This record gives sequence, structure tokens and C-alpha cells, in this order.
Amino acid sequence: MRIGFIGLGIMGKPMVRNLIKAGHEVLVFDVIQSNIDDVVKDGATACESSKAVAEACSLMITMLPNSPHVKTVVMGEKGILEGAKPDTIIVDMSSIAPQASQEIYKACAKKGVKMIDAPVSGGEPKAIDGSLSIMVGGDKEVFDQVYDILMVMGASAVHCGEIGAGNTTKLANQVIVALNIAAVSEAFMLSTKAGVDPIKVFNAIKGGLAGSTVMNAKIPMITEGNFKPGFKIDLHIKDLNNAIETGHQVGAPLPLTASVMEMLQTLRADGCGQDDHSGIAKYYEKIAGAVIRK
Ligand code: NAD
Repeated sequence: MRIGFIGLGIMGKPMVRNLIKAGHEVLVFDVIQSNIDDVVKDGATACESSKAVAEACSLMITMLPNSPHVKTVVMGEKGILEGAKPDTIIVDMSSIAPQASQEIYKACAKKGVKMIDAPVSGGEPKAIDGSLSIMVGGDKEVFDQVYDILMVMGASAVHCGEIGAGNTTKLANQVIVALNIAAVSEAFMLSTKAGVDPIKVFNAIKGGLAGSTVMNAKIPMITEGNFKPGFKIDLHIKDLNNAIETGHQVGAPLPLTASVMEMLQTLRADGCGQDDHSGIAKYYEKIAGAVIRK
């Protein structure tokens, strides 16, 4: 089918490529021309605005940084709602605040446009091989209608509840990932300073209770001193901001999240905002005066 796709960054590009490989016609827009050129080379068709994409497509996917970007693309000038016909479906796969998803959903409903929130976990490698975990909020009938398309990009797509529930689930995911990277960094700094080779520690414990997908993905990067993103510290700050704000609204204190947030803020102030979030290890390296390397 014909699909509109807005937001061609680290995640959007491989997701577009997988849709094209599965035989779909994909019309695209991004504010960065070189990102558009990259996917046009692979068979996508360029449009001049989000509005122009929406005029031509009854299914729209957005993959943008945060709430303000999705609001601009959907509700702003030359945005999707200016071009969309009633019954158009918008699948917002960005990680944004659940409250923003609810606000955008209401603006869409006024024009007869349907919207679900469907953020993802798995990062660039899983976007490339089409095995993302997708968490969805919104009307179940709309989820059922787009399920097959979601499964082109993901290995699983779970309907979590009403609009915003996908992003609430994603916030829980991001809290777990940030705290897990911090725990791994803290523990590996302990063993490094006590004189044990980090690779031996990793091999000894990865199959036990302390093992995790995060440890498997991040320890090889940390021990090589490779902090190329991946998932940027700046984006994780954005997610933890959304988590802390939501936590305060619903009365769920997040003391550990707040601590890791300050580590991320320290790293950003030190010029590391564009590093991969495995760079949390660098915070420990600074305060302990040692590096975790093989
Ligand atoms: P990115 O910054 O690489 O890409 C975002 C893209 O959106 C850019 O190409 C940017 O030019 C475009 N954009 C911004 N404003 C726009 C506008 N008004 N109109 C059109 N295009 C616009 O970000 P990313 O890493 O691809 O992440 C996208 C979303 O996915 C974020 O919410 C992020 O938190 C989430 N996510 C990222 C990862 C990851 O590992 N990178 C993993 C899971 C989820």
C-alpha cells in the first residue's frame, strides 16, 4: 500500500527501507534534505511538506524527536492535518509525552483523523533488521488495521491500552534502560578498580541473574571506548524528563531516575550530549579516575 513517512533520522531511515523492501510505496518528508536524499536512493518518493505527504496517503507514520516536533508536524502549518482526508490513520512511532499523544489525538479526532501512539524499543540495529518491540496506545480497531504494517518494522506489537499507553510503556522502558546502564557502569567500575579484567567479569556474569540485554549491548561498547550513537544522551534526557513529569502528575516518585538524570545532565554539560547513552560509563570514569577498558 501507499504509506507516508515523516522523520528520516537514525530510526526513520531503516524503517522506511524495510517498508519499501516489503513492497510498499513510501512517500517521505524531513526538514533535512540529505536525509530525504538517502531514502530516495532506496526507492522512496520525496514530497515538499508533511501536508503534501498527507494529501497523497491514507496511512501516515511519524518518527520524530519529541512532543513539540510531533505537534508541529501534525497540527502545525503545512502539517498533516492540513492535508489529511477524514479516516486517515496517523501512527506516531516517536517517543513523546503521553499527555502530548492525548492532545494530538483530540486535534485529529476533530477532523475525523485517527491516531495511535506506537513508540519502539530496540534502537538502530533492530530498526535495520525489522525486529523492533512496538508498544501501542489507542483504539484497538485502528491497532488491528495497521498491525501487519507494524510487523514489517517490528518483531512484536502489543496493544497496551488507550491513547498515550504506548508512550507510558515506553517511559517505563526508558527508566529501566537508563538505570540498568548506570548499574552496569557502577559495578564494572568497582571490578575494574579492584583489578579484575572487565571482559572476564562480563563473561562470568552475563548468563546469571545480573545478565541483561543492556549489558550484552553496552559492555562491548564501553570496553572499547566506543560511544558513537545509537541512542543519544540528549534523547535519553528527553525521555527521563517526560518520565519525571509524568511521575509527578500521577504521584509516582522516581528517586533512582532522578539520580541518573543528574548523571546525564553532567555528561551533557561536559559536551557529551551526542554520545551514545552507554556514555553513562564516562560519568563513573570521571568520578573514579579510571577507565573501563579491555
Ligand atoms: P533523529 O534525531 O535521528 O531523527 C529525527 C528526524 O526528525 C530528523 O531527521 C529530523 O530532521 C526530523 N524532524 C525534526 N523535526 C521535523 C519536522 N518538523 N518535520 C520533518 N522532520 C522533522 O532521532 P531518532 O534517533 O531517529 O529518534 C526518533 C524517535 O525515536 C525519538 O523519539 C527517539 O527517542 C525514538 N527512539 C530512538 C531510538 C534510537 O536508538 N535512536 C530507539 C528507540 C526510540
